[in-house]
Amino acid sequence: MLKPLLLWSGGLDSTWALRELGAINALSIALYTHGEQARATREAEARARLRPHFPSATFHDAALDISASTMGTLDTINAVFIAAQMARSLGMNARHEIWLGANCDDDAAIQSSLENRRECWDRLLWAVYRGGSRPRIVWPDPAPSRLQQLQDLGSLADQTWSCRDPKPHECGACKPCLAIHAARRQLNGDTP
Ligand SMILES: [Zn+2]
Repeated sequence: MLKPLLLWSGGLDSTWALRELGAINALSIALYTHGEQARATREAEARARLRPHFPSATFHDAALDISASTMGTLDTINAVFIAAQMARSLGMNARHEIWLGANCDDDAAIQSSLENRRECWDRLLWAVYRGGSRPRIVWPDPAPSRLQQLQDLGSLADQTWSCRDPKPHECGACKPCLAIHAARRQLNGDTP
């Protein structure tokens, strides 16, 4: 049985999934827009810091300039397409799973948007596998809260990178930054 394939950005969500799933094929995809590589660079640095902590995982790397992608700049679509190609080359089929560690935060809207994208991802997999036996895309359900992720990862959480808008440090204002900072305050027992 092949190990599942996890889309691993190096952020809090997908690193939590990596820890949870243990022995896994971890696929790192650097997605960047032409001339704007800051986020991809910060994520790559985080993955380099974290890799030694997961000796039972097998790591694969891919990179794509999404400003050149014919699928537009919606990053998850591009990532799933590359993941489907990787899954096919690994010999994965209907007995296997592709894991999204993505967006397991406390936001119900993100969970439902994942559900809405499922049909689009299924079509991509269908195309890559030419209608043949293909893996399923899954994500953690129920989703752990950010607080739970911080508790489970312990000091490893400090090595992750989730900021969407680095300047070059964490912006502190994007959605992941705000959610993680709030969870950290909770973890430290501060009143919200
Ligand atoms: Zn940020």
